[in-house]
Amino acid sequence: MNYPATGDPANGDPANGDRTPSDQALARMRKYVDKYREKSGTSAHTDAYVTEGVVMGPAAHIDEFGRPLCPCNFYADKTAELAASRRWVCACDEMKRFKYCHCLLFVTAVGLPVTEYLPDDHEGRQIYGVVTDPTPDKGREARHQVDPD
Ligand code: SF4
Repeated sequence: MNYPATGDPANGDPANGDRTPSDQALARMRKYVDKYREKSGTSAHTDAYVTEGVVMGPAAHIDEFGRPLCPCNFYADKTAELAASRRWVCACDEMKRFKYCHCLLFVTAVGLPVTEYLPDDHEGRQIYGVVTDPTPDKGREARHQVDPD
């Protein structure tokens, strides 16, 4: 699996075309984040600035494209990316398969992304080491795509 380069999760990436979202899109995204944290058994980052910064990105993408495209990747063409796949629409495939959020929107209570399910060579493992999942009974709705039977 190839992973796109990541940008600054707290600020989005201005070079990537991020812009200030509408209040409506921001409210929609915040509501989604709250619900998905509950569903996946994850928490907010301990630094509220991280959530506030990150959530602006997918909210801006809702305004621009109608879908909350992940803000922490570089896309050569966002329209083409969304036409080709939903893999980086929040919650992305990595989150649904591995419970790993590289933007730090969905993390453990101490603010770390879950990495225990990632492949050994994934950048998340190299950056954070093994971070175990405190709520293994929740989330990973696409685990069947990566776990052996
Ligand atoms: S769950 Fe995936 S799409 Fe959503 S913010 Fe995290 S890394 Fe980005």
